[in-house]
Amino acid sequence: MSSQHVSTDTKISIKGLQKAFGDNTVLKGIDAEIANGEVVCVIGPSGSGKSTFLRCLNKLEDITAGHVVVDGIDLTGKSVDLDKVRQNIGMVFQHFNLFPHMTALENVMLAPVETKKMSKAQAKEVALKLLEQVGLSDRANYKPASLSGGQKQRVAIARALAMSPSIMLFDEATSALDPEMVGEVLQVLRDLAKGGMTMVVVTHEMGFAREVSDRVIFMAEGVIVEEGTPDQLFGNPQNPRTQDFLNKVL
Ligand code: ADP
Ligand code: MG
Repeated sequence: MSSQHVSTDTKISIKGLQKAFGDNTVLKGIDAEIANGEVVCVIGPSGSGKSTFLRCLNKLEDITAGHVVVDGIDLTGKSVDLDKVRQNIGMVFQHFNLFPHMTALENVMLAPVETKKMSKAQAKEVALKLLEQVGLSDRANYKPASLSGGQKQRVAIARALAMSPSIMLFDEATSALDPEMVGEVLQVLRDLAKGGMTMVVVTHEMGFAREVSDRVIFMAEGVIVEEGTPDQLFGNPQNPRTQDFLNKVL
């Protein structure tokens, strides 16, 4: 679907990535390349290391071994400016973590103003555009407590977009939502994908993964077991573990 935007330029290069928490090696050597404009969905059983993998891509976790290179910058390098790298990578979690005392608009304006990337007036203009993009123009002055789960998550996405990232990471962005609100959030992701955003999406929404992604990665026990186009991975999985997982969730 979004493949017309995928270029051959590598956006994220992951080589031999390992992550251990004490004795527990959670990522056991991950190799992957993510192209500019590509939408990659990561699926797999609970505890397989999907969130840890995602968090390594913007170095929210220390990397035990291997390399993560984003836009040519090796995040494991000593002098890397992590703030700058992270400004280019938006992240959306299962729980929205909006500031409860701020309106939707103020939540979206916060990072660009705090990082002095924009003046307040400029940040407001950008935030209003983003709220419009996620269908929440009429909720700009509402605080999180007055918003539904789906609306809060859309504010969280707008907030992540406010720094104009070129990569967006989603970690089970719809898992905490009531079923009737999943669709409105997935629609925002779909629109982003169409717009050419590079996206890595950890999801349980197999329909979404099949429809929107350029590539699907199946992870289990800290390794990539299998990857391929949605048609390959869902239609003709090769590995017995992939087959077993898909039999359980589809
Ligand atoms: P998934 O997102 O696929 O469910 P996670 O990446 O959250 O998997 O977790 C993979 C493994 O790493 C689990 O065994 C989990 O207990 C462990 N883990 C994750 N984060 C930490 C942490 N901060 N400290 C210790 N262990 C962790
Ligand atoms: Mg997880």
